[in-house]
Amino acid sequence: MSNSNNKKSEVLIALAGNPNVGKSTVFNNLTGMKQHTGNWAGKTVSNTIGYCEFNGVKYAFADIPGTYSLLSRSKEEEEARNFICFNKPDVTVIVCDASCIIRNLNLVLQVLEITKKAILCLNLMDEAEKRGIEINIPLLEERIKIPVIPMTASKKKGLNTLMKKIEYVNNTNPEKSYVKIQYDDVLEKAIDIGIKELENHSFSDINKRFISLRLMEEKENFINTLSENINLTEEETKCCYNAMEKSLQFLEKNTDENFNIGDAISKGISKTSEYVSRGVLNSDITAYSKRDNLVDRIMTGKYTAFPVMLLLLMFILWITIKGANYPSEMLSNALFSIEDSLYKGLLYLHISNQIADMLVFGVYRVLAWVVAVMLPPMAIFFPLFTILEDLGYLPRMAFNLDSCFKKCNTCGKQSLCMAMGLGCNAVGVTGCRIIDSPRERLIAILTNSFIPCNGIFPTLIAIITMFFATRGKGSVLISSLLLSLVIVISIVTSLSASKLLGKTILKGIPEPFTMEMPPYRKPQFSKVIVRSIFDRTLFVLGRAVTVSMPAGLIIWLLAHISINGTGLLYIMCDFLDPVGNLFGLDGVILLAFIMGFPANEIVVPIMIMIYMGDTSLVNMSNLESLRNLLVSNGWTIQTAISVIIFSLMHWPCSTTCLTIKKETGSIGWTLLSIVLPLAYGLTICGVINILFNIFS
Ligand code: GDP
Repeated sequence: MSNSNNKKSEVLIALAGNPNVGKSTVFNNLTGMKQHTGNWAGKTVSNTIGYCEFNGVKYAFADIPGTYSLLSRSKEEEEARNFICFNKPDVTVIVCDASCIIRNLNLVLQVLEITKKAILCLNLMDEAEKRGIEINIPLLEERIKIPVIPMTASKKKGLNTLMKKIEYVNNTNPEKSYVKIQYDDVLEKAIDIGIKELENHSFSDINKRFISLRLMEEKENFINTLSENINLTEEETKCCYNAMEKSLQFLEKNTDENFNIGDAISKGISKTSEYVSRGVLNSDITAYSKRDNLVDRIMTGKYTAFPVMLLLLMFILWITIKGANYPSEMLSNALFSIEDSLYKGLLYLHISNQIADMLVFGVYRVLAWVVAVMLPPMAIFFPLFTILEDLGYLPRMAFNLDSCFKKCNTCGKQSLCMAMGLGCNAVGVTGCRIIDSPRERLIAILTNSFIPCNGIFPTLIAIITMFFATRGKGSVLISSLLLSLVIVISIVTSLSASKLLGKTILKGIPEPFTMEMPPYRKPQFSKVIVRSIFDRTLFVLGRAVTVSMPAGLIIWLLAHISINGTGLLYIMCDFLDPVGNLFGLDGVILLAFIMGFPANEIVVPIMIMIYMGDTSLVNMSNLESLRNLLVSNGWTIQTAISVIIFSLMHWPCSTTCLTIKKETGSIGWTLLSIVLPLAYGLTICGVINILFNIFS
């Protein structure tokens, strides 16, 4: 976004802050947008712009990635730093967690090295109060020399004051004096040497002290960043090189071999933030931490972590399956019972037989299936999952799984991307940006589609219930146990594929990662429900419906366009049949997966439609009749197992493929992301087929 455009029509505000401090909550409340919020570090992975109006002025808010520092040691840090430095926001609002100010001040001080037009927003004041933390705000303001606004964003407290302060800061010149990070003497002198060299040029008004320091730490890389973002003249480029060389020479002469500039900078930052916060806090956080520590001992304990994780998974799946049964049946009864009336209604409107047939038994039937089968489990699963996210459980899960991932040459943060993949693989792939190392990020991207997304869930639940947990007492428990097992299998295969990549084309040593354990927070239940229903359930359902209607139409057309008396659809199925048989599947199943490329959720409806053929009026209102339909078309337990495996491992849907192409920028990697799960799926299904042939 170019700033010059903004200046004319709107005021640009950057929202900076550590991860998980409520930045997205502030952003959403001010702009009315629905950025994803959740209790774990690193969900905001790219800049999002939202707008609001205050006293007749339009404000553009940029929600930049949450980072602990701006030292550009990771992609997110660099992105956040570059936004503040080169997009020159009119005001930068730094959102902080009021319950851990000292650590948050590190980022505040670094922002102030770039811009003085800033506001410190002390969010989570309610949490701080609960912990018995008292903050002397006037003293903090005096030390930091920028306005400090206390806030509880989740309750919309303090937002109006923040807007007033933004207006004020935008319209006034910043105070001359400002708090400066105090580095040790040698580094300070080296910075001054650099500044002297840079003195005669403007560098688009970027703070020279900041440039001088960055040149010493990032060297040529920073000169490249500068020239990419501002039009460096030849003179200015030369000047940068001079400044860099001179200050580095000075450092070399005046320090010993143990000197490390990165460490010296970090030391300066933490010393200054200690100074700023001295006397500002009067806290007693021990009681609160004790409770968190106790819970953490269970959630992340050596012997308890994995059983707790499995139990939680099973519990969520149990509620999902149990809760979805009844509404699913009701919905499908209702939706399928009106098929006939719909058909008659269309005939009554003088619509031809064939068109009515196509609309009702082509388009409507697939749509009805998708809604009846997908809506209830999603409406239960997503809120439950969001509650776990809000509670702060996800980072603990990453922590627990870290050792497994390390053994597979990758890092524990991948498990967070996998958790996101359970919702939607495209979201999981974008979420891989939280992984700093490009090698590990690529591995996580390529293996994300091994995790079943919600489009595959209903298929898995339906097949498991039909073939392995037929009605009766305990069937729901068996279904949830088996579904948990299927998810564990998907995690294991995803890990194995990661290891394969890590040992072959993406060799390397796993990088250590720091993942902050956020405090446990009471989920905001009403928000969780609204957010998971609107942002996730309806969004995913909307996508499925949009794809399923044209798919229903195409299948109907293919079934009715015939060559030599045989429908095109059946010719295609016959052609694929021998290939399918090799893997314990059949032509219909393969074709359904191929046609389900736009969205996984339509695979089962396509299968049903093809199996039903022209004798369309089969009652599909319950799983028993569906089971009969499948069995009469040759399905056995082996087919059910193979379809489950193939559902887990075939290819990512079209949206995910496009996202992978966008994230990796490479057609080659995108192709690999298709070939890798497919190779796994076909190999496992092939082996199962051989075993069944031998032993049956
Ligand atoms: P971000 O990572 O900085 O964007 O943080 P989010 O906006 O996603 O918020 C992180 C978590 O803190 C979410 O669970 C929010 O619901 C919660 N949260 C945000 N603001 C407040 C607040 O003022 N008080 C409390 N108690 N929770 C908050």
